[in-house]
Amino acid sequence: MIRDAPDRYFASFVVQTEPGALLHRETVVGIDLGLTHFAVLSDGTKISSPRFLSRAEKKLRRAQRALSRNQDGSRNRDKARLTVARAHARVADARRDFHHQLSTALIRDNQALAVEDLAVRRLARTRLAKSVHDADWSGFVAMLEYKARLHGRAFHRIGRFEPTTRTCSACGTKDGPKPLHVRAWQCPACGTWLDRDINAAVNVAKAAGLAVSACRAQVRPGVIPAQRGEAGTHRGAA
Ligand SMILES: [Zn+2]
Repeated sequence: MIRDAPDRYFASFVVQTEPGALLHRETVVGIDLGLTHFAVLSDGTKISSPRFLSRAEKKLRRAQRALSRNQDGSRNRDKARLTVARAHARVADARRDFHHQLSTALIRDNQALAVEDLAVRRLARTRLAKSVHDADWSGFVAMLEYKARLHGRAFHRIGRFEPTTRTCSACGTKDGPKPLHVRAWQCPACGTWLDRDINAAVNVAKAAGLAVSACRAQVRPGVIPAQRGEAGTHRGAA
């Protein structure tokens, strides 16, 4: 039995299972991890954090506020501290569940996967980035990697600095840096309208040598949402 900080008990045991044989897939995928969405795929799918995770995070913030209001050494403060510890544990559990579900689905549906190396990303980000996202992403990427190995899927980390948001995924032309609020732009060389996140995911896949189509990175000029500033950028004009 293991007892962790918020007074929860776990029976710990190891289950040995044969990795279930997965069907061979023709599909491959590039993955861009970000803040506006948890992940954006080269096929155009945008994945947000699930509601059960945001709910747990909201409860945690509320518990933390209650604790900071409780500054005396009273029993109430001990209680508030325990509530925070429990809320922390629930967030960690919810996040792990989400990472498991998403990584399992991605491994099941794709023969090869590519993701930007996070050490590289840290170099490119701004200081506004929160370390919580680093921990969040690296936990997820580690999970993807071991599941890929377990199931014989190819897994690529794009290690070199690839200017994924400067390069047009349709024609390969390298354009100037773009501030983070620019969510879509038109390639000056080939005229394609590009979605920032999907373009990055396609470039990650291409940098790994995966044959993905750039057509999902294209947007019609008419559907581009109003551009606005954002707080909490995780990378500058990379
Ligand atoms: Zn182009």
